[in-house]
Amino acid sequence: MMTEKKYQAVIAELIFETALHVGTGRDNPGTDAPVRRNNTGDLVIPGTAIAGALRTLATRLAPRIDLTAKRKCIELSYEDKQKREEDKICGCAVCHLFGEFYPNKKNTKTEDDGGRASRLWIYDAKLISAPRPFVRDGVGIDRRTGVAASAARVKFDTEVVPAGAKFELRVEMEDVNDNDLKLLAATLAEWQAGRAWLGGNTARGLGNAKLDKIRFMRNELDTGKQLLDYLKADDPKDAATEVTDWLKHKVANARENPNPGYNGKNRPFLAASFQLAFDGPFLMHDATAATVVGFDHLPLLDAVPGFNEKPRPPLMAGSGLRGVLRSHAERIARTIASFNAYNAYKEGKGEASKLFLKSCPACNPLEDDATKPLTRCDKFLETSEEFEKIKDHVEDKHLCLGCLLFGSTVRGSRLKMMDAKLEGEPQWKLLDFLAIDRFTGGGLEGAKFDAMALWRPTFNVKLFLEEPEDWELGWLALVLRDMIEQRLTFGFGAAKGFGHARAQKIEIQCGFLRDDDWGVDFGKIKPKDENVPGFYRVAKFTEADWEAQKSIVSKWVEVFRTKLKREGETLPTRKQDSYFDGNLEKLYPLTEA
Ligand SMILES: [Zn+2]
Ligand SMILES: [Zn+2]
Repeated sequence: MMTEKKYQAVIAELIFETALHVGTGRDNPGTDAPVRRNNTGDLVIPGTAIAGALRTLATRLAPRIDLTAKRKCIELSYEDKQKREEDKICGCAVCHLFGEFYPNKKNTKTEDDGGRASRLWIYDAKLISAPRPFVRDGVGIDRRTGVAASAARVKFDTEVVPAGAKFELRVEMEDVNDNDLKLLAATLAEWQAGRAWLGGNTARGLGNAKLDKIRFMRNELDTGKQLLDYLKADDPKDAATEVTDWLKHKVANARENPNPGYNGKNRPFLAASFQLAFDGPFLMHDATAATVVGFDHLPLLDAVPGFNEKPRPPLMAGSGLRGVLRSHAERIARTIASFNAYNAYKEGKGEASKLFLKSCPACNPLEDDATKPLTRCDKFLETSEEFEKIKDHVEDKHLCLGCLLFGSTVRGSRLKMMDAKLEGEPQWKLLDFLAIDRFTGGGLEGAKFDAMALWRPTFNVKLFLEEPEDWELGWLALVLRDMIEQRLTFGFGAAKGFGHARAQKIEIQCGFLRDDDWGVDFGKIKPKDENVPGFYRVAKFTEADWEAQKSIVSKWVEVFRTKLKREGETLPTRKQDSYFDGNLEKLYPLTEA
């Protein structure tokens, strides 16, 4: 078959909703910082990094669309990868579009044998406009002692492009068929809906983007004039014409023809947004901003101001928020698990401490000592005899629930916390007082410092969870309930009454494709208007619907309580427990509230 030659390209603007790391050029493309300076000093996102992010998403979307190549990508399954012979191509829809991982040289004689590289040519995306880059200073703080922990391990300076940066995306394609275009359109539509993440720090809230002004350009190259224009143009896109509503039509087509044989995970995502309203001062630390402005403590700013410039709007770092949510979630889980162990002990099922350790729901992500209670899972696995065998495919049963939901080094995280933007104008308050140890609340060696605190700020918080499961939703619902009841504190100085915030204006978005994807009846919260960006449809509920959705939420919480027992799973058992083994059990006996 002759290949049809024509010029086809997608041109769009990639706009970042959160800040973005700038790499040094030493990073591997696509794995860490996605933005780099090219040899003329301009900021670019390498095409390989964009291709990697698009491919990851396309791999998740492909099984849901009715495409000719129905097989699951070999890359998805560890077992399949092991079994596959070196010279065998995958042949799935994703590999057809993005290229085989190991193009087979022996079999490239015929056109549709696969074995070829990508049909997409993705350009380095150039920066169109941005507030200027700034350096964010990341010093890891040891949670217990409050001092900067092991400098070599956790100190990092990074150049960051602030939120609002715009890049030009350009994807040209060659020999694409209708299936390829359908899959590409579905993937771009998800980016259009703001569900794009680039770079390796997305779990910490960086690199969230959306696509805007998407244009599909085509030059059929059929007539002499088309060909001549194409050859004469400095930029081939200038000799192409836009196909109106290309994305809209292709996505509608992909949505209306879902793969009837789909049997993967049913829930695409959960996105939650809410406001955190502080009732007093809020103090967070950003060393760089503080130094420039001349204070010891200052919240993270959208960009560091120059001299004679007023400070830019403050942000609450996604990483900080995530830490607070995680440690509160751990507390909830350990409390329920302690009750479970104690009840099982009363039923004669064994020693309470052994029962607790067998199903330990949450490690301490900062505990490296394998002999201590609650050693972090990553460390604990490294010391196990099985490690060499399992390190490339760590399974659920190897990790605590905390690591499964909030992430671990070996597995990464599906939960993303975005930097939270301030609502309205900041009100600053100068504080002049003794340094407070963040954990004990006591004065730190009498050191005096001054600080700029935000007075009664309200931040807009956003989190995103891919493929949520019932138990995860139940756990997050419990954390959210405690935030509504103002039981969590954020930033420095909790003991001085700082950092008390209430969650309000909650909106939960549930992504779905088929009506039965979530196994619950969305009823009246189902979308009325289907004409919104994105491949997935979105059901929204707010606090107002909360009562009506109560039965759904309490079912999730029930599943979480059961999951905590981790029945039928054999977790690596930790050595020691600090509650049942020590005096704590005698000092604070368990009583049901
Ligand atoms: Zn494949
Ligand atoms: Zn863990």
